[in-house]
Amino acid sequence: ESISEEFKSFLDSGIYRLDGSKVVFVDPVRLLNDSYSRFGVSPSAYYSRSFQSTDRERVEEEDNAPSISKKKRKRKKRPRDLNEREKSAEKRHQEAKSLLLKAHRAFLEVAGLQAFLSKLVKCEEFTHDGETEEKNFIELGSHWQAPLYEIALCFPKSHEGEDSWLGNHVGRTVVPLFNNLISNETNDEVEAEFNNSQYILPGRSCFYMSDLRQIRNLIPAKSDQGFNLIVIDPPWENGSVRQKAVFPTLPNRYFLYLPVKELAHAEGALVALWMTNREKLRMFVEKDLFPAWGVSNVTICYWLKVKPDGSLIGELDLFHHRPYEYLLLGYINMENINSECTPAVNLEDAHVIISIPGVHSRKPPLGKLLWDHIPGTKPVKCIELFARELVAGWSCWGNEPLHFQDSRYFMER
Ligand code: SAM
Repeated sequence: ESISEEFKSFLDSGIYRLDGSKVVFVDPVRLLNDSYSRFGVSPSAYYSRSFQSTDRERVEEEDNAPSISKKKRKRKKRPRDLNEREKSAEKRHQEAKSLLLKAHRAFLEVAGLQAFLSKLVKCEEFTHDGETEEKNFIELGSHWQAPLYEIALCFPKSHEGEDSWLGNHVGRTVVPLFNNLISNETNDEVEAEFNNSQYILPGRSCFYMSDLRQIRNLIPAKSDQGFNLIVIDPPWENGSVRQKAVFPTLPNRYFLYLPVKELAHAEGALVALWMTNREKLRMFVEKDLFPAWGVSNVTICYWLKVKPDGSLIGELDLFHHRPYEYLLLGYINMENINSECTPAVNLEDAHVIISIPGVHSRKPPLGKLLWDHIPGTKPVKCIELFARELVAGWSCWGNEPLHFQDSRYFMER
């Protein structure tokens, strides 16, 4: 069977660049697998949302729904004039809509890709026995005992058999789990153990699991030790009370105090901020948040979500269930960026990332997509804030950065 070069490269990289356009289709599983050699992310676990509807997924369906009673909803149905904010939201949506429809059409026209999508999401059965319950790090971190919890890192022995007289304790280190920078300095995965669950830590990754109140501990001692890529997916409030079942949210003003500027490298940093499509939020980010963080030269990207049959996960016009989200890109310390180092400092407008979404709020990995646009001397330093997973070579912070590192989400290669 002959497959195109583009398709071969997609199978390898997880990125399919649509001909001559700024549209890419990505397979997050393939992108994540760049972080692993002995393990692989289980496609069935990643894409579980595509074939089962759990409580969590139902929450997601209602994610963007407003928390108003049916009574109020009915009352709202009466046609009325849009206020200024709604008009501006509608204008933005219409712009996005025509661009996204074009991107989606181009995606549907890629020969062979559609037929492949269903194979992408389910390559093997979801093997985890489901006996142990998933740990709730958000809850554990808020216990009074949190400072006492420890995690054991089990470093692989360099040569099978060697040192075996020392028993199983070779390469086993026990460290506090919360409010502690935990790193795997080896190039290989390290398995970690906490309370009968196993976690996979990618090579050269590190994480700091804490509440927002401790985030300043991540600020580098010197500005030339800062980060060149800062990915942020904040727990925005969205008006839906139900969402609290999945993770806690924070009022917008809290994000003004994120030390993003202090985390940025003096040679410049690319900031990638995930956003829901609420106009009020968009205005807050443009007028307050980005100025407070010192972010300029902002570009907008879209994440368009499709089902394994290629169709959009919802209608573009359904106000509270839109099949797309925003990703804003901008730069800090722009004045110090060496334009020769980063030829594409000014990303052209409107890129579209298409993917089949994983479970609630899980975003596609961005490192590889943004690689060419990260300023600074190589090797660049990358950090994700509010992370729920780790990436090889990156620093990750949040109140549950180990969440998707649970061995239930992996298979051995
Ligand atoms: N990017 C992630 C992914 O792709 O899976 C999703 C991030 S989610 C939108 C926001 C995260 O922020 C959640 O894990 C939530 O628990 C965390 N969070 C909420 N309040 C926090 C706080 N006060 N301190 C630290 N993290 C918090």
